[in-house]
Amino acid sequence: MKTIVVKFGGSSLASAAQFRKVGDILRADPARRFLVVSAPGKRDSGDTKVTDMLYRCYDLAVAGEDFVPALEAIRARYGEIAEGLGIKFDLDGALAPIAEHLRKGPQRDYMASRGEYLNARLMAAWLGWTFLDSAEYIRFHADGTLDPDTTYKLLGAAMAQTEKAVIPGFYGADETGRVVTFSRGGSDVSGAIAARAVKADLYENWTDVSGMLFTDPRIVPNPSYIPFINYRELRELSYMGASVLHEDAVFPARRAGIPINIRNTNRPEDPGTLIAAQAPAGTVIPPVTGIAGRKGFDTVLVEKSMMNSEVGFTARLLDIFAAHGVPFEHCPTGIDTMSVVVSADAFRPHREEILAALEADLKPDLLKVEEGLAMIAVVGCGMVANKGIAARILGAVTAAGVNIRMIDQGSSELNIIIGVREEDYETAIRGLYKEFH
Ligand code: ADP
Ligand code: ASP
Ligand code: MG
Repeated sequence: MKTIVVKFGGSSLASAAQFRKVGDILRADPARRFLVVSAPGKRDSGDTKVTDMLYRCYDLAVAGEDFVPALEAIRARYGEIAEGLGIKFDLDGALAPIAEHLRKGPQRDYMASRGEYLNARLMAAWLGWTFLDSAEYIRFHADGTLDPDTTYKLLGAAMAQTEKAVIPGFYGADETGRVVTFSRGGSDVSGAIAARAVKADLYENWTDVSGMLFTDPRIVPNPSYIPFINYRELRELSYMGASVLHEDAVFPARRAGIPINIRNTNRPEDPGTLIAAQAPAGTVIPPVTGIAGRKGFDTVLVEKSMMNSEVGFTARLLDIFAAHGVPFEHCPTGIDTMSVVVSADAFRPHREEILAALEADLKPDLLKVEEGLAMIAVVGCGMVANKGIAARILGAVTAAGVNIRMIDQGSSELNIIIGVREEDYETAIRGLYKEFH
């Protein structure tokens, strides 16, 4: 029989009514045997996610302030869900160790993880499914990174022995049992890990939109959905800010060749976006699959005549950034020029030392920093087969009245990155959407 791992995000689990939709979706296909849950999210735009309420409790406890009202508000969120579902759930019993933990020098990741923990227990009680605590099966190294070998062994064995289980997302634990979380939105990663551990046929990621959008809905109203996207394209888009799926959720699924289907809990009839290595037969591949971007970059321009004949010049240049712990994002080069695009947050604290080192080591003719750039990735594996896409991209941005500061075409021909001034970012995205849509 087929096995599907399903993950529901916070907004899909924010209330009893949302839990019921989840129940309907699970019942509609018996292959949906493993359910990974987030903490309850926002019920409406003015609401607060339970994870944020837990961080607040932690902050209050650490500051020595009264956390009881904040914890009560969390109890109320779960109480409302349990009551709405009409189930008996021992909330007092489940919350008592959390209150106790807050009194005795709390640990931040542990506190954050309780949102998923409580939600999974509540869901398991309602569905009558087994509860598998991720702290026992998802293992982190002491440095906070995932230990995949141990995780797949432990989690795979537990899932193989279970017919139907609810698994809390977002966290695991290290060897000593100390809880460790992924970064925000990390339940997507837990879901992908569970899918790989059980060698699932499909990983369904249920959220509040009907799939991956062609571009950011905050910039372009009602952009269309992407019916199919391959793992590599998705990686490029999510790295650049298309935030429907946590960027680290792609690796486990891709490694195991498990397709991901992004679906809408509120519109289960919509097919959503399918993510896999190869498009199903008959799929029309467009020249551009999607557009994403981010603000917050600086560029360091280094000019030196005959730079290309100086052996090791590029390596020395990038070493200086690396020595200060600043990764570079892009590095377009000319014959006598090189630009290093860096995240402003990473670069600015080390700016003066890096510039001084570049000056001293490389003796450039010119060294210039341009601040406040946005990078836009135009992504699509169909670019290779379609002539003139680069020209259309540049034409569309220029026609929108935006000056292009940088162009970088990745050697994979999967994407073209363009740099524009931050204030031109939205205009450029709108221009591109119009051209490719
Ligand atoms: P969940 O709580 O279900 O994990 P998220 O809030 O993490 O949901 O992700 C879904 C949201 O991502 C959508 O509501 C949408 O506003 C936002 N989003 C940003 N970029 C995109 C995109 N390119 N496609 C779809 N959704 C996007
Ligand atoms: N609850 C966590 C967060 O809000 C993890 C998740 O929802 O994926 O970031
Ligand atoms: Mg999410």
